[in-house]
Amino acid sequence: MFKKLLIANRGEIAVRIIRAAREMGVRTVAVHSEVDALAPHVLLADEAVLLGPAPSSESYLRIDRLLEAARETGADAVHPGYGFLSERAPFARAVEDAGLVFVGPTPETIQAMGDKTEARRRMKEAGVPIVPGIVDPAASAEEARAAAEAMGFPVLLKATAGGGGKGMRVVEEPAALSRAFDAARREAEAAFGDGSVYVEKYLQRPRHVEIQVLGDVHGNVVHLGERECSIQRRHQKLVEEAPSPVLTPDERRAMGEAAVRAAAAVEYRGAGTVEFLYQDGEFFFLEMNTRLQVEHPVTELVTGLDLVQWQLRVAAGEALDFSQEQVRLQGHAIECRITSEDPANGFLPSTGVIGELRLPQGPGVRWDGGIEPGYEVGLHYDPLLGKLVVYGPDRPAALARLRRALDELVIPGIETCIPFHRRLLDETDFQEGDLSIRFLEEHPQVLEIRADADATRTAAIAAVLLEEEARRASTPARPAGSGGSQMSPWRAQGWPWNE
Ligand code: ADP
Repeated sequence: MFKKLLIANRGEIAVRIIRAAREMGVRTVAVHSEVDALAPHVLLADEAVLLGPAPSSESYLRIDRLLEAARETGADAVHPGYGFLSERAPFARAVEDAGLVFVGPTPETIQAMGDKTEARRRMKEAGVPIVPGIVDPAASAEEARAAAEAMGFPVLLKATAGGGGKGMRVVEEPAALSRAFDAARREAEAAFGDGSVYVEKYLQRPRHVEIQVLGDVHGNVVHLGERECSIQRRHQKLVEEAPSPVLTPDERRAMGEAAVRAAAAVEYRGAGTVEFLYQDGEFFFLEMNTRLQVEHPVTELVTGLDLVQWQLRVAAGEALDFSQEQVRLQGHAIECRITSEDPANGFLPSTGVIGELRLPQGPGVRWDGGIEPGYEVGLHYDPLLGKLVVYGPDRPAALARLRRALDELVIPGIETCIPFHRRLLDETDFQEGDLSIRFLEEHPQVLEIRADADATRTAAIAAVLLEEEARRASTPARPAGSGGSQMSPWRAQGWPWNE
């Protein structure tokens, strides 16, 4: 096993990786930007190295600074987390060239799966069903139109180098194709420096179902079941669960086997995710993410495996010590992404200093967070503050637990998307598992959250806390540090989350 791991990331995922490493006796090095000097991942790691100013391009994306930090601290492996440099083949190569271990697949695998048409070609060869459409980029709008007419409208134009929903255009009819083609090309060129676009059939009401895979360098690949990630806003996942409420055991087996074939076809090493669109009992390969996913905890809860620790073991050359038959899925897990986005304000990013957090506790509740009281949330990075993950023996039990845990969760100081999650849980179709990637379009009322929707609950909690504060104030003061009541600045000024 490694002696020292550098985590080339920040926020909740850096904290998650540090925890996994520490449990394995691996020392950790955090890296950070100037504004993150006191961030939780920095405080938790054994050592920390400043990379540069706040913008990612001057800090978390600086390959040269990251390698220098690894050299300075004597780290022998680098974990990229997700986002940032995690799916950049040149980074994986640079890490290896520096004589360090990259915790993830080979640069060749990252590159092959990062190109959507290349990935589709490889998957087709491996016998994995792909979304109907063309396999090579379309050379012209005419070629795209001919392909679209052959497969029937609506179609989806997609950037070969795509990611984050960029360079994607739905086209409903032939007349709209050539404009959409030019627009997708321009957007892809601007975002990825590569304007190649191809054509896929646009599925009307699919679910997003993905399979977690794990491979080692000895040729073993297993799958760890699926995650349903259909609750999305603008192609961004908000809620994920395992297992999917609708997959039959046979469908699970077929999808799992397809995912293992997909991973084996690129000699996959480490933890990866094969994403599918699922509709009416059929499933189609969408893409493979060659890294740890945000939503990995739901799989951990239903399998009992620690995916980050397995990433480290596999990267260190260890073999998987269990077979596919030994993978047991038990119970039901649901994750809510808690972001600093204001659902009462069109999910606009919110900024501010985190107040005294109230985190849910008790049976079946897990909080993977990247914030602490006093931490200032700005606009430089991803708005993910943490993930609330619950586990129960079945889906109804998990839903009840999620409601209870969301009621306990209070993040003062900024607006968060907690009211959205609470509202979503009220929706009968969600409760019944009738999901599709168009769920929020079909249930727009879930997004209509008024600023005061949570006011009753907030006021109730505030009243209890104020009463408690008053009670403590009337008892003789104890010296600081002995558990006495210390009014923090935001408390003295009132309840920011009640404004
Ligand atoms: P990106 O890499 O830009 O995130 P993906 O190919 O992973 O793009 O697709 C992102 C999301 O877009 C999917 O989760 C799904 O909601 C939607 N989507 C992608 N392809 C299709 C399709 N052929 N039909 C319908 N929806 C699609």
